[in-house]
Amino acid sequence: MTNRSGTEGKRDVSDQLTIHVGGEWRAAATGATREILDPADATTLAVVAEGGAEDTDAAIAAARTAFDDGAWPRTPVAERAALLRRVADLLQRDRETLGLLESRDAGKTLEEGRVDVDCVTDAFRYFADLVMNESGGRVVDAGTPDVHSVVVHEPVGVCALITPWNYPLLQASWKIAPALAAGNTFVVKPSEITPLTTVALVRLLAEAGLPDGVANLVTGPGDPVGARMSEHPDVDLVSFTGGLVSGTKVMRAAADSVKKVALELGGKNPNVVFADACATDEGFDTAVDQALNAAFIHSGQVCSAGSRLIVEESLRERFVAELARRAERIRIGRGTDKGVECGPLVSAQQLARTEEYVASALAEGAVLRAGGERPTGPAYGDGYFYRPTVLDRCHRGMRVVREEVFGPVLTVETFRTEDEAVALANDTEYGLAGGVWSAEPGRARRVAGRLRHGTVWINDFHPYLPQAEWGGFGKSGIGRELGPAGLAEYRETKHVYQNLAPRPVRWFAG
Ligand code: NAD
Repeated sequence: MTNRSGTEGKRDVSDQLTIHVGGEWRAAATGATREILDPADATTLAVVAEGGAEDTDAAIAAARTAFDDGAWPRTPVAERAALLRRVADLLQRDRETLGLLESRDAGKTLEEGRVDVDCVTDAFRYFADLVMNESGGRVVDAGTPDVHSVVVHEPVGVCALITPWNYPLLQASWKIAPALAAGNTFVVKPSEITPLTTVALVRLLAEAGLPDGVANLVTGPGDPVGARMSEHPDVDLVSFTGGLVSGTKVMRAAADSVKKVALELGGKNPNVVFADACATDEGFDTAVDQALNAAFIHSGQVCSAGSRLIVEESLRERFVAELARRAERIRIGRGTDKGVECGPLVSAQQLARTEEYVASALAEGAVLRAGGERPTGPAYGDGYFYRPTVLDRCHRGMRVVREEVFGPVLTVETFRTEDEAVALANDTEYGLAGGVWSAEPGRARRVAGRLRHGTVWINDFHPYLPQAEWGGFGKSGIGRELGPAGLAEYRETKHVYQNLAPRPVRWFAG
């Protein structure tokens, strides 16, 4: 890892020593390894330890000891905040190498990789500021001078943090930064497909001076590593970001030990465009440009991708024609190549899944307006590339409209009235995010207020703020990341009631 990430930790780490337990870098107990592939050409990018149940138990034990007996949970808030700020500085120091590593591993463009590092830096700084600016506890007036009552917050304990492959560094950081700010210890498990930047991040935590045992890492598959983390009795909280199927397994596994569970799951996100938003040439250009961005950034492998365009019927033909024209011109290629706008899909499996969804949509009557196939030519070789695809004349009966594709596939539905637009946008089992485009502020706010989604953008798509909560309604999840609620996930609340003048209560006569 050292040569690729360019970061230096306090211990020597090489490929295959990617499991971190109690401050020590290890190979898997079984000696098993996994090849990490470059999705642009299917060649081997790195070889990492393929952890199993034994490694997971060891990591949980280290986190348990560090929580029960270690200094971190009792470290003054100012010191915790200072450590988070040092991590932020190290992330910026390594911005270029981390951005490059993320680009290679996840297939995103180099610029997207750099932006991810900046967003992650902001998250570490935000949670440092948040804990530093808290007044600390809440005094409750019991109505008598004989009682002092205060509500305080404490760390939850050992946190199991499980992350997906599309934003590896970002998703890990949205969990790690608040978990540490609140004084917890943790075990993190990145996706087995894209573990490299999480390994680099854990090295930076050590370099920043985090005590051994606070941050532990197991590289390995969902089952057994993630499954064991979810069921283990010594884990107090599991925070999971990933797909609906794995998320429900996590919730079931956590039930026996009644752990706290936070789930950030998928989305099937509507982008609602009213004709009035496109009354001017500039408005039209902006709405089309942002619809492309909503659907195709990171080749559509974004939980909040605006993969359902819901456009006013009178605007449909003009809007879709221009959208398809621009989609055809998106430059596909290796994320690190100059001028490339869309990288490959992350894996052969994800490519096959995308192809299958497009085939099913066409069989169900969708009309192909752009893409619909893999690009051809020597530049694409064995890479997992797929052309940005626009499917017109779609409806709610189609699988491609109901289910999350997680590829560069945009479906088009139409509406005639505001009520119809709202009904379509809410007709999903998910509820992560959605966009509304209208030049009429009253309409935009009215529709935003009626959408059952965790984030609603008006005349924009995709931006988020570390100060604002992120999470979903419905099957998009439980709990929130970022913002004050994102810190609260990692805390227990305790009421301390102090009687300053104790007397017998004489409930019992004796
Ligand atoms: P996934 O569910 O396949 O895997 C996510 C993580 O869970 C991986 O680390 C995996 O190894 C692990 N896992 C798999 N089975 C497990 C089990 N039985 N127990 C515990 N852990 C297990 O998801 P993915 O394909 O890596 O990522 C894509 C999904 O993530 C999409 O559905 C996307 O919408 C979602 N996602 C959501 C958000 C959000 O903020 N809501 C953000 C990014 C991605």
